[in-house]
Amino acid sequence: LVELNHVTKRYGALTVLDDVSLSVQKGEIIAVIGRSGSGKSTMLRCINGLERIQGGDITVDGVRVNDPATNLRNLRQQVGIVFQSFNLFPHLSVAGNITLAPRVVKGKDPGMAREVALDVLRRVGLEDKIDAFPDELSGGQQQRVAIARSLAMDPQVMLFDEVTSALDPELTGEVIKVLEAMANKGMTMILVTHEIGFARRFGSRVVFMHQGRIWEEGAAAATLASPRTPELETFLNAVL
Ligand code: ATP
Ligand code: MG
Repeated sequence: LVELNHVTKRYGALTVLDDVSLSVQKGEIIAVIGRSGSGKSTMLRCINGLERIQGGDITVDGVRVNDPATNLRNLRQQVGIVFQSFNLFPHLSVAGNITLAPRVVKGKDPGMAREVALDVLRRVGLEDKIDAFPDELSGGQQQRVAIARSLAMDPQVMLFDEVTSALDPELTGEVIKVLEAMANKGMTMILVTHEIGFARRFGSRVVFMHQGRIWEEGAAAATLASPRTPELETFLNAVL
């Protein structure tokens, strides 16, 4: 579903992604781990077409992301992305946040869009908050609304960039529950995460990034239990 072929991304003289190749099948859950600055966020941003790449190819469902002719708006309907900071529009209610893109991009009428909002809010356990405003919600609830907002576009793949990092530990659990429910429903997901426990339980695969390269990858449980490279071993010792 998502293919990266020899992708290179540079900022000026700095090579941030260095010959990265990754193939993600439908329904797979890829946990991306690695030290700060190793290129994890950049890789997600490239998949979503938020960054230009200087070499290689990225395709999502056969569509070339880095082709200038590709309609990035259509692409981003297929590829949802949720960041560490919640990025909800503060002046819009939960319903307003969730229905904006379905109405503007997909041309759904307000009634239909609200039905979709209710449905996705149910999936994150927040249907009672449909008319609340972001500042009336906890951080964990805001993050669940941000996830619901992405789901409302019915994407084929979801990218998550450290979506629990800004949350207190007790709120992390409720967001992880939502991710687990999505995993169980077969959603294809690529998650940058520091939650090694989550990666072990739900990741079909772990990708360890180091210095802009995929340094090591493999089945989640085995890779985390017995790293093959000293770099991954050092990283795991530091985070566990
Ligand atoms: P973290 O765990 O801290 O989020 P990361 O693995 O997500 O780190 P990236 O954000 O992908 O790392 O950054 C990789 C490298 O690219 C870093 O060296 C960073 O300084 C650099 N970088 C990221 N964005 C830009 C930018 N817009 N311009 C220049 N350099 C950038
Ligand atoms: Mg990052």
